[in-house]
Amino acid sequence: MELVVATKNKKKFKEIKQIIRNLGFKKVKIFSLLDYPKIPKIVEDGRSFKDNAIKKAVKIAKFTGKLILGEDSGLEVEALNDRPGIYSARFAGRNKNDLNNNLKLLRLLKDLPLNKRKARYVCAVALANKDGLVAVREGFCNGLIGFRMQGKYGFGYDPLFIIPKYKKTFAQLGPTIKHKMSHRFKALKKLKNILKNYFEN
Ligand code: IMP
Repeated sequence: MELVVATKNKKKFKEIKQIIRNLGFKKVKIFSLLDYPKIPKIVEDGRSFKDNAIKKAVKIAKFTGKLILGEDSGLEVEALNDRPGIYSARFAGRNKNDLNNNLKLLRLLKDLPLNKRKARYVCAVALANKDGLVAVREGFCNGLIGFRMQGKYGFGYDPLFIIPKYKKTFAQLGPTIKHKMSHRFKALKKLKNILKNYFEN
């Protein structure tokens, strides 16, 4: 029983692996693309999170013959007409990295009050095998963009992403809480029965 997650992002992989384990798949061997260095780079040129997740899963499944989980995720900010969306990882352009992406977001939102700083994380997950797409699902997580970066856990926009129920950012709350309510958890939970059938047969 093996599953390859179509990402080279170590932090994202760690989250996906932990969530899949928490969903009850203790015996499945879970790999990332770092274990498959010969796989060609897949260009993320889809128009939606789902398009990108499907493209990664289907292409890599064809190439390897393995069961692949493609994942694409990002942040949609209401006041920015849902930007950065599918461009979340590259928001700051040439100098893209987590810090610069966060600083750009703070700059664009300026001093908008908290009730105008609504945002949501989106995650699309696609499962594919050598014959093509098996399933695709999406998960969402609502929050607010804070006025400064807080916390040390997670990655990406987590230091700015406030969960209203806790009045804390995901970077302050840490993985135990994040993995029970995140966009990634919700998307993967929707794949649980499909994965279960797949591994049982
Ligand atoms: P991808 O690797 O193209 O899917 O890019 C995802 C980008 O969206 C990341 O680089 C982050 O900027 C952002 N993102 C997605 N999920 C999360 C999350 O759980 N926390 C923080 N940022 C996230």
